[in-house]
Amino acid sequence: MKRIYEPLAYTDRPIQTRYWNRFLPDPAPRYAPLRDEVTAEFAIIGGGYTGLSAALTLAENGGDVVLLDAERPGWGASGRNGGLVSVGSAKLADDAILRRYGEPDARRFFDAERAAVDLVEQYLDRYALEVDRHSRGYTYVAHRADRLEELHAYGQEYTRRYDLPYEFVPKEDMAAQGLNSPEFHGAVHLPVGFALNPMKFVLGLTRAAEAAGVRMYSDSAVEAIDTQGDGYLLRVAGGQVRARRLLIATNGYSSDDLPGAFAGRYLPVQSNIMVTRPLSEAEIADQGWWSEQMVCDSRTLLHYLRLLPDRRLLLGLRGSVRVSEENIAATKARARADFDRMFPAWRHVETEYFWSGLICMTRNLVPFAGAVPGLDNAWAALGYHGSGVCMAPYDGALIADQALGRSRLPHPDLMQRPLRRFELGRWRRMSLPLAFGWYRIKDRI
Ligand SMILES: Cc1cc2nc3c(=O)[nH]c(=O)nc-3n(C[C@H](O)[C@H](O)[C@H](O)COP(=O)(O)OP(=O)(O)OC[C@H]3O[C@@H](n4cnc5c(N)ncnc54)[C@H](O)[C@@H]3O)c2cc1C
Repeated sequence: MKRIYEPLAYTDRPIQTRYWNRFLPDPAPRYAPLRDEVTAEFAIIGGGYTGLSAALTLAENGGDVVLLDAERPGWGASGRNGGLVSVGSAKLADDAILRRYGEPDARRFFDAERAAVDLVEQYLDRYALEVDRHSRGYTYVAHRADRLEELHAYGQEYTRRYDLPYEFVPKEDMAAQGLNSPEFHGAVHLPVGFALNPMKFVLGLTRAAEAAGVRMYSDSAVEAIDTQGDGYLLRVAGGQVRARRLLIATNGYSSDDLPGAFAGRYLPVQSNIMVTRPLSEAEIADQGWWSEQMVCDSRTLLHYLRLLPDRRLLLGLRGSVRVSEENIAATKARARADFDRMFPAWRHVETEYFWSGLICMTRNLVPFAGAVPGLDNAWAALGYHGSGVCMAPYDGALIADQALGRSRLPHPDLMQRPLRRFELGRWRRMSLPLAFGWYRIKDRI
């Protein structure tokens, strides 16, 4: 495989001290590796939300499905994220989407983002998944007093999108809402979305897929995709799959040669999370932060945070480039420094967990869910820009629908355009230090 990060990124090391490990059943579900030749109508590469949702959609419509994961279902970002279910899977502002793609397709995209949140709710209902839900919509906070105008603009953009009101909270009212922090200078509450336990969600989808008859294999990295007759031969060390139709769901853990059509056209970026020990009621009162809302700040290198149902504070951040022991330690220290600034009354509260994973950006700055260029009967979905807890299941369902030859859900054309190549191609990761440096300056001024 031609993956662009250090080998450590593709081991269990980044998830050794992951809070969500506590929610893995003992023994954790682990399917046998593929050591044989199997045949299926549909083969799916990747067992995160995208692959599992695609598998469920196909199997529940009578499809015969094999799903392969290089490690195990839920091993990637789907078992590592912050659990914020919200719109925001593009790296373009709404007016840019409107200008670039025109009103009808932009509208389809906004509808798709909303439908993606709804689809998560439908999965929770249909499979009776208990995922520790909280937060009514989400809350966007200004990290500087001079960003309040931006906050209003964001709320207004939301209103234009969904014809839903937003609520502005001035600095002086934040403490009364349990959002007291010297770092935050005002907030807007936006009504769509909620938070969940991402591990419970991915395990629930895995169980549902298994129950629907999907044949799943762990430790089965696809090493080559060959075309054969009117289908595909996927090679795994010690086994192979013959399938008529192929779905690729590898997102930030993709490889530049699987398929070659995507080489240099997706960019994995690290996201990192720290979780504290549980806070006592007295500590929560001292800081004045008791809101159950999920929160994002106004930085370009944004922070995302929420008080978990067991009263731990989860804080996520971006902006690290390498995956090495030194970098893991440095990023953990940076997370802690940010936390201490945001929550000075909790400076003594220990960090119990810290972990990281890879999200995925595209040069198009919007997610991709469509046909793989140059391959017949092959589809892929990826590039949710760190907002895939709902967009990944949704896009998995979209490409499954395409593979079934049907269309049910809003599927904008802008998400089906061929992925543009990053200017630096296989060296594209080198653009990150410069970009992150610039974002840090921008976030300060
Ligand atoms: C730390 C962190 C925090 C995040 N927080 C949020 C959040 O709060 N809200 C939000 O909306 N999004 C968040 N995200 C993003 C979200 O988790 C992802 O967008 C989403 O999980 C992507 O799902 P996926 O199924 O496409 O990919 P993944 O879950 O990454 O799954 C890809 C799978 O493909 C497998 N694979 C790769 N190559 C091969 C191969 N050759 N053969 C077989 N299998 C292969 C991998 O083993 C992996 O299991 C976060 C991500 C991270 C890392």
